[in-house]
Amino acid sequence: METLERKAQEPLLEVRGIRKTFVSQGLFRPRRRVVAARDVSFGVDRGEAVALVGESGSGKSTIARLLLRLEAPDAGEIRLNGVDVLEREPRRASLAYRGRVQMVFQDPFGSLNAVHDIEHHLVRPLKRHHRTNGGGVRAQAAELLRTVGLEPAEEFLARHPYELSGGQRQRVAIARALAADPDLLVADEPTSMLDVSIRMDILNLLAQLKRERQLGILLITHDLASARYLADRVLVLFRGRVVEDGRSGELVENPAHPYTRALLDSIADTGEERARAGGTRRSATDPAEVGCPFASRCPDVMDVCREADPEPRAVGERTVRCHLYEEGASAPGSVSG
Ligand code: SF4
Repeated sequence: METLERKAQEPLLEVRGIRKTFVSQGLFRPRRRVVAARDVSFGVDRGEAVALVGESGSGKSTIARLLLRLEAPDAGEIRLNGVDVLEREPRRASLAYRGRVQMVFQDPFGSLNAVHDIEHHLVRPLKRHHRTNGGGVRAQAAELLRTVGLEPAEEFLARHPYELSGGQRQRVAIARALAADPDLLVADEPTSMLDVSIRMDILNLLAQLKRERQLGILLITHDLASARYLADRVLVLFRGRVVEDGRSGELVENPAHPYTRALLDSIADTGEERARAGGTRRSATDPAEVGCPFASRCPDVMDVCREADPEPRAVGERTVRCHLYEEGASAPGSVSG
């Protein structure tokens, strides 16, 4: 059987055409299908951070859950270190996979168990994932704390989560993820519950780990500013589709898709980081709808938008899903000729 161990010649993560539909039914509501992820494809390389950005209901958290194998996709492929993991382990993720792909949760208060001290939180994954070495597991746990900037480490090992600040807890959560020696860190809104003053510290820590450990990072966020700060590439999601995919700096400075522009405008207009593009949020319902799903909120809507859902097309070095652009057109802000 193919191994999930790192292979220098293989891309770290490749996601191809994943799709996930949920069926919801309320007591007095008819059944409805919710397409949470629709033919989503992307990759993350070693030492690369990719951000999935969108408002609530855009499908970004579903994609994270699919990658963590907490949900099974209806279709598509997930390859880790060159291995088709859904084919290799179709029913549930192996311990090896769960070691290679680790998660940092949004809530640093709920993700640690208040009953146990920090040493317990770190020793457990070290043993579970067979990452102990001859130097002693307590010393390894202390080293993990130093890696995430918690010193004196020996002192922090003896503390309990309730004795730490939110930022310190999130550092412990990151150290716990590192204990498994992962290749890919899925960080789900890792700063949104922290004070504004320490958000940058956590993003800087993730950037350092990416660089020094060649860690792949998938950042799930509603906040384009955080995405731009940490990520090399940004995928903007709207109702389960990737509507724009490009290098983070170019995409944020010169957004091509009207939805990306709306996300940026909502930050600028309100000063709030929660993107509220165009007002009402809607989830990805009704896969049978005709035309562009953003049409009812789009300031640039044209007749064709109500008739045909645009296919992804190459626009400069980006991929954009919008009728405003022809295949092969220049991206906004690019210098032609
Ligand atoms: Fe707006 Fe049309 Fe582009 Fe959709 S396809 S985002 S409605 S311009």
